[in-house]
Amino acid sequence: MEDLYGRKIDYLRISVTDRCNLRCIYCMPPEGIKPKAHDDIIRFEDILLVAEVALEMGIKRFRLTGGEPLVRKGVIPFIGALSRLPGAEDVSLTTNGILLSQTAARLKESGIRRINISLDTMNPKTYRELTRGGDLRAVWEGIEKALEIGFDPVKINIVALRGINDKEWVDFARLTLDKPLHVRFIELMPIGSSRQMAEENFVSCWEVKEVIERELGELTPVIGVNGNGPAEYQRLQGAVGTIGFIHAISEHFCDSCNRLRLTADGKLRPCLFDRREIDLKKAIQEGASRKELQLLFRKAVQLKSANYREAERAGNEGRTMVQIGG
Ligand code: SAM
Ligand code: SF4
Repeated sequence: MEDLYGRKIDYLRISVTDRCNLRCIYCMPPEGIKPKAHDDIIRFEDILLVAEVALEMGIKRFRLTGGEPLVRKGVIPFIGALSRLPGAEDVSLTTNGILLSQTAARLKESGIRRINISLDTMNPKTYRELTRGGDLRAVWEGIEKALEIGFDPVKINIVALRGINDKEWVDFARLTLDKPLHVRFIELMPIGSSRQMAEENFVSCWEVKEVIERELGELTPVIGVNGNGPAEYQRLQGAVGTIGFIHAISEHFCDSCNRLRLTADGKLRPCLFDRREIDLKKAIQEGASRKELQLLFRKAVQLKSANYREAERAGNEGRTMVQIGG
C-alpha cells in the first residue's frame, strides 16, 4: 500500500496487551493505567484475521509490542500461528525482558528471530526506580538467554534520559565491544504522561553520540543491520556489536515512515501521534467481510499525515505508550 505522500506501508506494529509487569516512569503515571476489560481487548483469532488482511494489502512484517507482550496468556501459540501465515516474512518482538529467560526458547520455536529488549540502566537501584519495582537481574538473564539461544539480532533499547542514565551511555556502548548486541539509543517522546519529563530530561541522540565518541573513539557507519525502523547504526572500532541512534524528535524520520499500528483494543492507528483510529475489532464483531476490512486498511493508510506534527494536530488525547503500543 502507498499513502498520499508516496510512502510504502508494509509494516504493522501489533500491541497485544495494554497490561504490563512494570510501570516505567516515562510510559505510565505513578498510579498506573486502568487496563481495559478483557472483552475490550482484541482476541488473538481476530488479530490473525487482521494480519491476514494486512498481508493481502502488502504488509509483510509484524512486530509485537504492548504493554508487555509476554504477560498476555497464550501469546506464544499466537506468535506461532502469526509466523505461519503465508507471506509473513518477519515477526519480531519488543519486550522489557522480565519474562524472557523463561520464554526465550519457546519464542524462538514459535518463529521469532529478532528481539528488542528495553533496558535503560544497568544499575539495579536506578532500574527499580525507573520501572517502579523491576528486577534488573531478570532482564540480564533474559538478554543472556536470548544471545545463547541465537536470536539475531538482539537489540537493546535505551531511552536516553538526562540526570537518570547519562553516566551509563558509555558503559552501554562498551557492551558492543565483545557482545553481538545492537545497543540503540532512543529519544524520549512527549507522549501522554511523559510530556513533562520530555521537557526536563530530553537528550538528543547527537549528544549521546558525542559523549560516546569522546570517550571511546570515532564511530563508523554500518549498513545492513536487520530492522524495519529508522535507526542509524554505527560501530566502535573492532566491536562485535553496533550502536544505533533513533532520533525520533531531533531529526524526525516521518519521510520514511512505513507503518501502521494496531492497538490492544483493536484499533488501527495511522501514527503514534494521531488519535484518528479505525475500529477493526468492532468491524469484525459486526461481521465485516475481508473486502470491508481491506477498505478500512486503505482508509487508515490514507489518514497518515505527512509528519508527526501534522498528525498531532488531530490530537493524541493523552493516551500513553502503554495504551497505544510502543
Ligand atoms: N513493554 C515492552 C518494552 O518495554 O519493551 C514493549 C512496549 S514499550 C511501550 C516499547 C518501547 O517504547 C520501549 O522501548 C520503551 O522504552 C519505549 N517508550 C515508552 N514510552 C516512551 C517515550 N515516551 N519516549 C520514547 N520511548 C518510549
Ligand atoms: Fe511497561 Fe514497556 Fe511501558 Fe515500561 S515501557 S511500562 S515495560 S510497556
